[in-house]
Amino acid sequence: MRRNGERQIFVCNDDGIYAPGLKILARALSSLGRVTVVVPDQERSAASHAITLHKPIRVHRVDHRTYIINGTPADCVRFGVLTMLKQRVDIIVSGINSGPNLGADTIYSGTIGAAVEGTMLGIPSIAVSLAYQGHGNYKPAAAFSRQLAKMVLEKSLPRNICLNVNVPDRPRNKIKGVMVTLLGKRIYGKDFESGVDPRGQAYYWLAGATPSGISVPGSDITAIEQGKISVTPIRLDMTAMDMIPVFKQWKWQV
Ligand code: MN
Repeated sequence: MRRNGERQIFVCNDDGIYAPGLKILARALSSLGRVTVVVPDQERSAASHAITLHKPIRVHRVDHRTYIINGTPADCVRFGVLTMLKQRVDIIVSGINSGPNLGADTIYSGTIGAAVEGTMLGIPSIAVSLAYQGHGNYKPAAAFSRQLAKMVLEKSLPRNICLNVNVPDRPRNKIKGVMVTLLGKRIYGKDFESGVDPRGQAYYWLAGATPSGISVPGSDITAIEQGKISVTPIRLDMTAMDMIPVFKQWKWQV
């Protein structure tokens, strides 16, 4: 139960306990309610929505509201909310990720995986990422997270919808506004670098620079390019509704 009607705020990430965006986020949200932090014990970027099935989860308490677990970002939410907190959680904020989560990044992202897990548990959830460009301006992202969390606590979110937020890496007075966006088109490198490791075994390593993107009008990539904060509503149901009639026409046989 809520103590004295105090809001329960759950914070997680995929970058781990030393992530530069973690403490500043937890601190910004602490004026809205009681903040509990559960994060992975190592960086789990690109863990997507993986959960741990084949090994035990161990919990390490860092301080009285901060924990690390040997699991994925989605584990942090699932285990943290269902087992550690054992109480109603009013909102989950995942982040602030060190780096953008734009377009198809959302498929790979552990930051978003955690927010999606929260949404599946029926808790309003948002993912926040800093579109890092070497400056590390986490402050505006933290301030915006607080403002958005406050709105979500008041209005809640529609069922099965979470919000993906990207904040440009610049001082607050240089941010040009907020844009509600669609997911843009990211372009990933296709190279693997190969070599031989010090033990004589061949290895292949995903290589290439940070992915670029196509600036589709109205997209998250465009918003960041224009120095705006991007807010994309993400739907959990991946059914291609418009394709159902198309596939019903196929000659199905058992
Ligand atoms: Mn990350």
